[in-house]
Amino acid sequence: MTTATRSGDAFKGTTRGTTGGTTHDAGALTVANVSHVYGKKRALDHVSFTLARGRFSVLLGLNGAGKTTLFSLITRLQAFQAGTISLDGHDLQRDPGEVLRRLGIVFQARTLDLDLTVEQNLAYHAALHGLPARLARARAGAVLERVDLAERHGDKARDLSGGQMRRVEIARALLHQPRVLILDEPTVGLDIKARAEVLAHVRTLVAEEGIAVLWATHLFDEIDADDDLVILHQGRVRGTGRADTIMEQMGAATLTEAFTRMTTSETV
Ligand code: ATP
Repeated sequence: MTTATRSGDAFKGTTRGTTGGTTHDAGALTVANVSHVYGKKRALDHVSFTLARGRFSVLLGLNGAGKTTLFSLITRLQAFQAGTISLDGHDLQRDPGEVLRRLGIVFQARTLDLDLTVEQNLAYHAALHGLPARLARARAGAVLERVDLAERHGDKARDLSGGQMRRVEIARALLHQPRVLILDEPTVGLDIKARAEVLAHVRTLVAEEGIAVLWATHLFDEIDADDDLVILHQGRVRGTGRADTIMEQMGAATLTEAFTRMTTSETV
């Protein structure tokens, strides 16, 4: 963790989190009382939080916490059971097109077509979003530049390293210029250097373009002191707020210690 200085807490959560209060219209993405069951298994239990605009936010949870289930609801891969999700004031169930138009997604599993070139992968995605070919080409150049892969545009996806593929997926997710980018454990399977590069690219997007990011992970070393956290454990939000604030509130020397206390205590 870095030792960034404290600033205003831009992140507001609900539930029994550390910040309290409901701000269902204040942020870029709002998740309110979302619950989801698989048969008798409750994967999400009244999950609520608001993602602040232009901030790097982390959905922190161990395996099985419910991160992928939440992402599959935000992206409409699974049918809604309870609760609401809205983006920039557009309700996902009432107005899915408006929400998905503003949302960029990087899934946990690799989703590039390995037999296509980098630019063909991007062109395909741009077409799905209805971008005219000329605009799509211009945007593809710009987003590949953003992730330092402009010179690889003509290469087959299968010839890229794992980290480069992830960066192409990030570039692809930016083609339609989303205001919110969500990434489900995007560094899984990458080596230390590639992990750092992917993370740095996404942080730069937040800093330079004001995109709101939700980065799902279980890796504490990916988190900076001034990142906003949503701590998810066994389907429930156990706390929200800046990482350094959470540590202070829990009287913990490290985030790992704070997390352990929050996920073993029922009173947080
Ligand atoms: P991981 O990091 O391991 O992917 P996660 O935080 O993404 O974990 P989920 O994959 O959302 O968590 O799983 C949440 C809970 O729901 C787990 O207990 C999991 O076993 C269960 N679960 C997920 N998908 C299904 C399914 N299709 N059928 C039954 N149970 C499921």
